[in-house]
Amino acid sequence: MKLLLTGSAGFIGSHLAEHFLAHGHEVIGVDNYLSGQPRHTRHLLAHPGFSFVEADVSMGLPTDTGPLNWVLHFASPASPPHYQQHAIETLMVGAQGTQHALDLARRSGARFLLASTSEVYGDPQVHPQPEAYWGHVNPNGVRSCYDEAKRYAEAITCAYHREHGLDTRIIRIFNTYGPHMRPDDGRVVTNFINQALAGEALTVQGDGQQTRSFQYVSDLVAGIAALMALPGPHPHPVNLGTTDAITVLRFAQIVRDAIDPTLPIRFVPLAADDPRQRQPDITLARTLLGWSPQVSLTDGLTRTIAYFRALRAEQQPVPTS
Ligand code: NAD
Ligand code: UDP
Repeated sequence: MKLLLTGSAGFIGSHLAEHFLAHGHEVIGVDNYLSGQPRHTRHLLAHPGFSFVEADVSMGLPTDTGPLNWVLHFASPASPPHYQQHAIETLMVGAQGTQHALDLARRSGARFLLASTSEVYGDPQVHPQPEAYWGHVNPNGVRSCYDEAKRYAEAITCAYHREHGLDTRIIRIFNTYGPHMRPDDGRVVTNFINQALAGEALTVQGDGQQTRSFQYVSDLVAGIAALMALPGPHPHPVNLGTTDAITVLRFAQIVRDAIDPTLPIRFVPLAADDPRQRQPDITLARTLLGWSPQVSLTDGLTRTIAYFRALRAEQQPVPTS
């Protein structure tokens, strides 16, 4: 297959590029490095199946790709500090960016897959969250640039399916972690691991009783591949995440104990509109795709901590004497 992948230099995009190349497919990556980094795909540049275009998807996509099998739209900042710092770019890549990606799919005869998010449920009032839940979103708060962009992205994807008969698929990704996250991206997994590796206190926001479910990136990639392998159209969103919800405070203790049990935990103010509870209902993914997460939090964290340890060692200045 030949795929065009937006957001290829990001955390999830770089894992997808690796996955599809390893399975013998051709990947055209597109990224403008708004939140991604060249280091995530530098090792792929020598691969004969990989090509890269540095471009802002909100402004347009390459027109000379020839026929494609898939357009995978993953470009968008995903960490709350990144999307709040780039609120307009985030809205644009969810709106114009998604439309450009849909148009490219139509032009090139491709199927289309949208990376949506659990944030379409906002601060949910239904637990766990099934795909049928419409959500509870503040439409003009600090998170709205991301939540509403993704809700619009889902809406225009469904409109292209209904009006143009495009084969479209939508995944709603719940908190995912692993190697290739930026150490400074501000998300809880990277903050806690990098604070602990630096010997600093772990910053728990609020009382730490808010919950999240943490999915290891290889499980997400397997879920995406399974949805793409479905022969018939499946335009309805599919949740991909783990069901094991834990409090942020408990998560801080787990990370601290894995790195240095003597470190303190410091309570800091809670960010505005922070969702109180988040946990996916993955019945649909289990039944439709035969998929369920396989990597335990212990194993996933061990691999992620090893990645950040190695990254820190690589970035330490070499002693001159
Ligand atoms: P990331 O920030 O690591 O990657 C996003 C990539 O998109 C970056 O490389 C960035 O430079 C690129 N990008 C952003 N705007 C662009 C533009 N206008 N043109 C071209 N490239 C652009 O984030 P991630 O965690 O890898 O997330 C990838 C996708 O998955 C996003 O769409 C995100 O909304 C979705 N998602 C991720 C999570 C998660 O837990 N990681 C959860 C829900 C949804
Ligand atoms: N969080 C925290 N300390 C941090 C960063 C985040 O306690 O240093 C909390 C944050 O308040 C939220 C949860 O961890 O409740 C997950 O935050 P993240 O930014 O990773 O992603 P979100 O799920 O909110 O999109």
